Amino acid sequence: MILTKLGRYNCFDPFGSSIRRNSNLSNNRSSTHISSKSEKDRFYNLSSSSPTASSFNVITPQLAQTIPSEILIEICRYLHPVDLYSLASVCKRYRNLLWSKCSTTTQEIWKNSRLKYVPSLSMTPPTEMSEQEYIWLMLILKKCMFCEERNKFELTMYWEFRIYCCQKCLDDRTVSRHTLLNEWNVHDILLSCFIQLQRSSNPRDPPLYLIENVKTTLSNYNQLSEDEKPHWIINREKIISKLQLENEQYNHIHDLTRYDHTERLERLLKKLHEFYAWPKHRSM
Ligand SMILES: [Zn+2]
Repeated sequence: MILTKLGRYNCFDPFGSSIRRNSNLSNNRSSTHISSKSEKDRFYNLSSSSPTASSFNVITPQLAQTIPSEILIEICRYLHPVDLYSLASVCKRYRNLLWSKCSTTTQEIWKNSRLKYVPSLSMTPPTEMSEQEYIWLMLILKKCMFCEERNKFELTMYWEFRIYCCQKCLDDRTVSRHTLLNEWNVHDILLSCFIQLQRSSNPRDPPLYLIENVKTTLSNYNQLSEDEKPHWIINREKIISKLQLENEQYNHIHDLTRYDHTERLERLLKKLHEFYAWPKHRSM
């Protein structure tokens, strides 16, 4: 098959540096790095849903390199997103075509594939997110973005932070309201300016804040003049409120896309169990 014959280039996450900033870079990339033949075969088998998958078997390396761009684009129009992701790892030429975030043609290829093969992902990605990033987060990513955890019952999408990770990695990257107010000495008026993860309305489950976002937001705030700050806070609160509504929808879509009915029920029961076992790992 084309991937096992030509797979010299590593697959990688479409977020690039946003994931690689993590100290476990080499581990992270292994989630999408298809290094051995068996791994490649296993990854490729994910794409069996595509009606054209079997036709890859007859494509030789020479043919793959010399296929005219128009024909290649036409082939891509019939591929499942997982196939597109596999194809992007084949060679630099394919990667340039399929990994572009600004090419209208590329975005159309991924969008059409998403709408055709993944009906639950019919909602458009957020304005600042490319099709590849969206599909990767929602569908292709199969392990914690920061560690080697692969058990999907241990992994959760936190769309608020645009991360799919295990509980430990979430804890490592977030801070509680209590810590922000009492240890970081952040003024409480600024709390509504941070992106926050509010898992429930229950006071036993207080919001979490992404450390990186808190630092960036505080940095931006501190660069403002005193006259500018009140207006900035109001605008920031509006942005966060809008995001909160949007996040609920994307988290729901993610669960529909990644889990079947039984898995969603199992995850709900697991969350309930964890909730009643709280508190066990952090302060409010
Ligand atoms: Zn993890």
